[in-house]
Amino acid sequence: MAKYIFVAGGVMSGIGKGIAVSSIGRILKSKGFRVTAIKIDPYINVDAGTMNPIEHGEVFVTDDGIECDQDVGNYERFLDEDIYTDNYITTGRVYQAVINRERNLEYDGRCVEVVPDIPNEVISRIKRAGRKTKSEFVLVEIGGTVGEYQNMLFLEAARMLKLSHPKDVLFILVSYLPVPNMIGEMKTKPTQYAVRTLNSAGIQPNIILARSAVALDEIRKKKISVFCNVAPQDVISAPDIETIYEVPLNFEKENLGNRILKKLDLKIKKKKDLRDWRKLVKTIKNAKETVKIGIVGKYFETGKFCLMDSYISVIEAVKHASYFFNKKPEIFWLSASKYEKKPVQVEELKKYDGIIVPGGFGNRGIEGKIKAIKFCRENKIPFLGLCLGMQLAVVEFARNVCKLKNAGSTEFSKTKEPVIDVMPEQKTLLKEKKYGGTMRLGAYKCKIKPKTISARAYEKSTVSERHRHRYELNNDYKEILEKNGLVMAGKNPEKDLVEIIEAENHPFFVATQFHPEFKSRPLRPHPLFREFIRASIKT
Ligand code: GLN
Repeated sequence: MAKYIFVAGGVMSGIGKGIAVSSIGRILKSKGFRVTAIKIDPYINVDAGTMNPIEHGEVFVTDDGIECDQDVGNYERFLDEDIYTDNYITTGRVYQAVINRERNLEYDGRCVEVVPDIPNEVISRIKRAGRKTKSEFVLVEIGGTVGEYQNMLFLEAARMLKLSHPKDVLFILVSYLPVPNMIGEMKTKPTQYAVRTLNSAGIQPNIILARSAVALDEIRKKKISVFCNVAPQDVISAPDIETIYEVPLNFEKENLGNRILKKLDLKIKKKKDLRDWRKLVKTIKNAKETVKIGIVGKYFETGKFCLMDSYISVIEAVKHASYFFNKKPEIFWLSASKYEKKPVQVEELKKYDGIIVPGGFGNRGIEGKIKAIKFCRENKIPFLGLCLGMQLAVVEFARNVCKLKNAGSTEFSKTKEPVIDVMPEQKTLLKEKKYGGTMRLGAYKCKIKPKTISARAYEKSTVSERHRHRYELNNDYKEILEKNGLVMAGKNPEKDLVEIIEAENHPFFVATQFHPEFKSRPLRPHPLFREFIRASIKT
């Protein structure tokens, strides 16, 4: 029987619940336990695939092809474990399963009710995820904040699981303690209210993670302890820090791992002490020299604010690779549409050590990205294209090197030279408006061409990478592209799809149809990102 730790949020969202769950996972793993993590998103969407990244952040894709919340990416990065479909739960998924079962007469003719049937379905999914991964700890992050209408049924599931397994379930509240400027003192009242709200759902937190701009002092610790009914040692100070990768170390300073084990009557299995992790954090903090990476995209402009969540895995992959070379990455957000305006601003790309054109959908910014890619190719600036970034690199090469002036992608217009075209099986899906979860998703094999940059990076002849797309390089144009010097460095062996392209006589011009960023881990940077950063440092 696994142990279950539910993590809920209090006061407000966006305070690092996902990083807290990931860090707890890392700590427990370092003590010798098998750990998995589940994300519960309370919205009706069946998955995150249909949501605009500006609203929801990045859509993360797992090996088995689920389009899920970006927190799952954090779990994979911190735990260094692959996460699968069962670990992603939304209200939509739960109701869909219950309704399907009802339609199939699987409830033996009885009335199917919101309670207990919905929480029961949630519980059975949580248990299944634990069983399939043979985990000793199942961490469950409940999205949103306590008191929201949307996540009530998930709290109810947590309460019910605790009732049936009193010794195996723990509750952690991640709460926020503001320090208002005009008062200059850390306030605990919002956290007290959050705990009271949790109490009214029948749940008493065992541990409170106190997120704040600064560390908690003894007075606040005692106050939270008394008013929220937890031991002072179980009020864990979680101040803002320089790097998210330091969070597990900070939690351990407060003895969080051992507190969890004690409450669940468990003993440390292995005395691993997060050594690698400590080394990583030291590298991050000591890195002085920078590497300047520009990201030409569009999902970061929101009013007067710049949102980085849409490209979180790309950013983390750049970080991992930069840390590998003891460098601090400086990331610059370059709006693709500015390269479409006059006077031409694309010359500014010279300021950066390397340029990434990441994935994306729809027309906006396309021509600006193509101009940026052309500039990188012609001026030998290290370039990494991801998914849409590869498709546009092919369009650019076809137009400017192969002289196919009308080259384009059928995603954007009915072009005379469709160098990028919709995949045959996708045509019907699009016609029937079947958009949800129907792209080419998840891991597929890619055979690497010897003696290419990719071959040197991977040091393997076949790799497996994650996908999320409907369009692809049109093989009718392969010959002319190759004749003009475009290297087809990676191919899917089953379908003969081009998965990686490279340009010759360039320090680093590599673009992939897949998303290598999803597989980069802090202690194991992705080979292509690593080589991209190596080239960016050199040139
Ligand atoms: N829009 C492109 C496609 O669907 C690229 C997708 C992506 O960048 N993830 O093929």
